[in-house]
Amino acid sequence: LAPVLTVDGPSASGKGTVAERVAAALGFHFLDSGALYRLTALMAMKRGVALDDEARVAELAAQLPASFGGGAVRLDGEDVSDAIRAEAVGEGASKVAALPAVRAALLDRQRAYREAPGLVADGRDMGTVVFADAVAKVFLTASAEARAERRYKQLIEKGMSASLPALVADMQARDARDSARAVAPLKPAADALVLDTTDMDVVAAVDAVLAHYRD
Ligand code: C5P
Repeated sequence: LAPVLTVDGPSASGKGTVAERVAAALGFHFLDSGALYRLTALMAMKRGVALDDEARVAELAAQLPASFGGGAVRLDGEDVSDAIRAEAVGEGASKVAALPAVRAALLDRQRAYREAPGLVADGRDMGTVVFADAVAKVFLTASAEARAERRYKQLIEKGMSASLPALVADMQARDARDSARAVAPLKPAADALVLDTTDMDVVAAVDAVLAHYRD
């Protein structure tokens, strides 16, 4: 089996950017598992399926007509790269992610990304559940304030309006739901390196993760 490096952590911890750059540096495949939960939520919203209808949402997750390639995420052939990044879809993703049948439906799909020469997997439960046998595991954190500020800058750069206090509140609510759920709650794997990036830039975080992998 190809080696796996897992990068887990709360939202806006910078793990997406860090994991993608680490994958590029190693020449490994990259799995953005959050995108699968976002796609599942978006599809349920489009089809008018209630986000707490576990059986029907799990059915959608199991046969998700999604593809990644050429820098775009497609659902049913439609480019939804921007649509899945909307806050409402992130909220929805966090709701469907709390349903055990949905998590189970996405397991094989995530594991299929494990191909030579290796995989960097970004998510919440990559090191604890999906790739529990990974050769190296990292858990990236940062204070809720630092993460809200990063998200705020991203939104302003995109020309969108944003409120910092509202983002801090959203961040705390999402963290609380992701940590409190019964299945695969957000927590570092016992054998993960916990890296607090509150006072660290992306380059320093990438270097720290690469050093841990090569160790
Ligand atoms: O990482 P991202 O913000 O795109 O993830 C969206 C939501 O999907 C998270 O808030 C979390 O609830 C869920 N998720 C998860 N397990 C993963 C990845 C994401 O539960 N491995």
